[in-house]
Amino acid sequence: MLTSPRLPAALVPACREGEGTATKFVMSHPRAPALTTVPQTQGQISAPKVPKKTGPRCSTAVATVLKNQKSGPAVPAQKPGTAAAPPKLGGKKPSKRPAWDLKGQLCDLNAELKCCREKTQTLDQENQQLRSQLREAQQQATALGIERRTLEGELARVQAQAEQSQQELGNLSTHVLELEERLGTQEGLVQELQKEQLGFQEERRRLATLLEEQERRLQASEAALSGSQAEVASLRQEAAAQAALLAERGERLHGLEMERRRLHNQLQELKGNIRVFCRVRPVLPGEPTPPPGFLLFPSGPGGPSDPPTHLSLFRSDERRGTLSGAPAPPTRHDFSFDRIFPPGSGQDEVFEEIAMLVQSALDGYPVCIFAYGQTGSGKTFTMEGGPGADPQEEGLIPRALRHLFSVAQELSGQGWTYSFVASYVEIYNETVRDLLATGTRKAQGGECEIRRAGPGSEELTVTNARYVPVSCEKEVEALLYLARQNRAVARTAQNERSSRSHSVFQLQISGEHAGRGLQCGAPLNLVDLAGSERLDPGLALGPGERERLRETQAINSSLSTLGLVIMALSNKESHVPYRNSKLTYLLQNSLGGSAKMLMFVNISPLEENISESLNSLRFASKVNQCVIGTAQPNRK
Ligand code: ADP
Ligand code: MG
Repeated sequence: MLTSPRLPAALVPACREGEGTATKFVMSHPRAPALTTVPQTQGQISAPKVPKKTGPRCSTAVATVLKNQKSGPAVPAQKPGTAAAPPKLGGKKPSKRPAWDLKGQLCDLNAELKCCREKTQTLDQENQQLRSQLREAQQQATALGIERRTLEGELARVQAQAEQSQQELGNLSTHVLELEERLGTQEGLVQELQKEQLGFQEERRRLATLLEEQERRLQASEAALSGSQAEVASLRQEAAAQAALLAERGERLHGLEMERRRLHNQLQELKGNIRVFCRVRPVLPGEPTPPPGFLLFPSGPGGPSDPPTHLSLFRSDERRGTLSGAPAPPTRHDFSFDRIFPPGSGQDEVFEEIAMLVQSALDGYPVCIFAYGQTGSGKTFTMEGGPGADPQEEGLIPRALRHLFSVAQELSGQGWTYSFVASYVEIYNETVRDLLATGTRKAQGGECEIRRAGPGSEELTVTNARYVPVSCEKEVEALLYLARQNRAVARTAQNERSSRSHSVFQLQISGEHAGRGLQCGAPLNLVDLAGSERLDPGLALGPGERERLRETQAINSSLSTLGLVIMALSNKESHVPYRNSKLTYLLQNSLGGSAKMLMFVNISPLEENISESLNSLRFASKVNQCVIGTAQPNRK
């Protein structure tokens, strides 16, 4: 705390009436000292002059004394030491000196002077004392100033601290509020938990009752169990007997399966190792309706309930005329095949007929299914299916694979394990291209070569082609989609190349019966052949047509090679010209010998296509007349 410095008392001169020149200093407190000069009386006494610096009262007194010196009687000189005392009137007071007593007056004055000197001395001393007191006070004031500044600094610091504390206090109050709020929430929570706890306690009691109940039941069950165990023992014995029976039945089942395979094959052979089916596609929207009776499907010997096997085609020739000038009656062309599918036949009906053949592939016989016919006759529709995603229009490839997967699944119950690997290539102008190529292989055009799988191996493989293991329909769908896309790319670049090339879908089937050490494997080939139409030789050939002619020649040559190969196999000729085309070379292991072959001849229902239809039907008839030797399953 800052306190006002205690200052020394102020010295105030004061003269009392009747005290002569004596000066009295009054202590004044607490004002600062008002230093008054002490009158210098020394040396002035002898002078008759009135000292200038004495107060008015004192000077009057001295003047009075001097006046008295002239007129007043002389007063005896005061004794030294008593000069300070003023002259007293009456008996006790020293009597005023008569004016003549100059000596006495002088003596008085000397005494007064002495007294004054003493007083001056005292006052000097007092002055000295006061000065030193003043210095002290000043020092004290300086120290106090310093102390004040220190204290002010401290005050500022304390104030800052106080502010900080205030702020902290504010923060703390907020925190306290928060905590209070949290406390409220926690309390709510606690209440909830308590409620929950009560619930749990209730649940525990319920569970305890349940447990007791269960324990009772368990005891009952244990009693029942011991009864059952005896029963189990007897059942085990029974099961062992059943297992023995089952093994015996399994053995018999296997025998029956092998017998089924043998009989199935016999049946297929009876049907012919080469079979030809004719399929006539419906008239498409926008196409001209053929004249009535243009195509006929006469019933078989069993009547209309028999599936048709005969087809009659009527050709009216305007160039021929009768003698009477009337138009000649149309020429009738009859054909008969293993089965005819008229325009209304569905994909499921067609597949039903070939399902047995697909089964043969699973039993270990190589199978080849061809679709032959002019462009637009329905080959791709038969093999792959319609352009949309209509399941009714699904073609032979997806149906055959679905059938294979489901039969393989059934056979797995008898210990057979099957695996399937698919490849899909196209042969255009005698070059082989992978239809399953992706990425860089696709960008390079996917060209491939047909090679033997190894030195001395009979097996053929297409180099650089993808062989994709498949086990479900979805995977096959993805492959067909990829092939369609790859073909679509080629189509824009090569002008309808798909109809000018053969597409070969190969599925390598491998079966194994680990328990009996049996293995069987065979390829299933589904071939969408190039359009069989011929180029009109009478047409003038431009550069585009010339290219097309070369293409057509390549196709015709490969198709006629196929016919020649079948013929050579049928005639059991020593040389079979497999190598004359890439197609027959690739398929050589699936043709002849143990193989089974089915050819679809696809026909357009339109009258304008009659020449091509007749050509196709004639080719197919030739194939139909062939019989290829007894098939042997590929058993290892
Ligand atoms: P190709 O492959 O022989 O050139 P497509 O299979 O492409 O002939 O068939 C030509 C057109 O005829 C396609 O639009 C196809 O959908 C249609 N088509 C072919 N056969 C049938 C059929 N049985 N039912 C319905 N439409 C068919
Ligand atoms: Mg096609």
